[in-house]
Amino acid sequence: MWDQNRHNAGPASRPVEDFGQYCRSIPDFPKKGIIFRDITCLLKNGPVFKRAIDEMAWHYNLQKVDTVVSIEARGFIIGSALAYRLGSGLVPVRKKGKLPWRVYRKTYDLEYGQDELEVHQDGIEPGQNTLIVDDVIATGGTVEAVAKLIGEMGGNIIGAAFLIELTDLNGRDKIKDIPIFSLTKF
Ligand code: AMP
Repeated sequence: MWDQNRHNAGPASRPVEDFGQYCRSIPDFPKKGIIFRDITCLLKNGPVFKRAIDEMAWHYNLQKVDTVVSIEARGFIIGSALAYRLGSGLVPVRKKGKLPWRVYRKTYDLEYGQDELEVHQDGIEPGQNTLIVDDVIATGGTVEAVAKLIGEMGGNIIGAAFLIELTDLNGRDKIKDIPIFSLTKF
């Protein structure tokens, strides 16, 4: 069983399937000039979705991930599947006003606009190994805000994982200290 052996295998460089072929690029959505990377074609294909999550999970084989912190809304899809695969907890980071209990909040810049993110104050315990998960890293503003929230809560960020990295936008420069894994790049 994969899960029972997860600490016996290890990340190294190896050929990875081209998952980009299952993503659809939609020009001028939601605003003119933005090429929206649509992951619904990947998600609706069961075997491909499974292989994508397995590939991401494999990358963290050798690490203890206590908590996956995933970002509303598409991040929840990837984050929850990955958390299940890793046997980790899941902490949702949501847009302002959605979480019912006491929150910490951060304002951040998007590729298109500005927004606020919140997390429950008891979501992450100090010292917990956390993995940030979202569907796409674009400018990196979102993941930077989430990393700040986790850092202020005392969480230990072991990495950030994305289905897609938009390399032209240099998002990874915003979280230079955090190891990034992206399944596919555009
Ligand atoms: P950023 O903060 O610029 O890295 O943007 C990342 C967030 O915005 C992710 O949660 C994505 O879901 C979304 N996003 C930004 N740009 C795109 C894009 N071109 N296609 C799809 N989603 C995007």
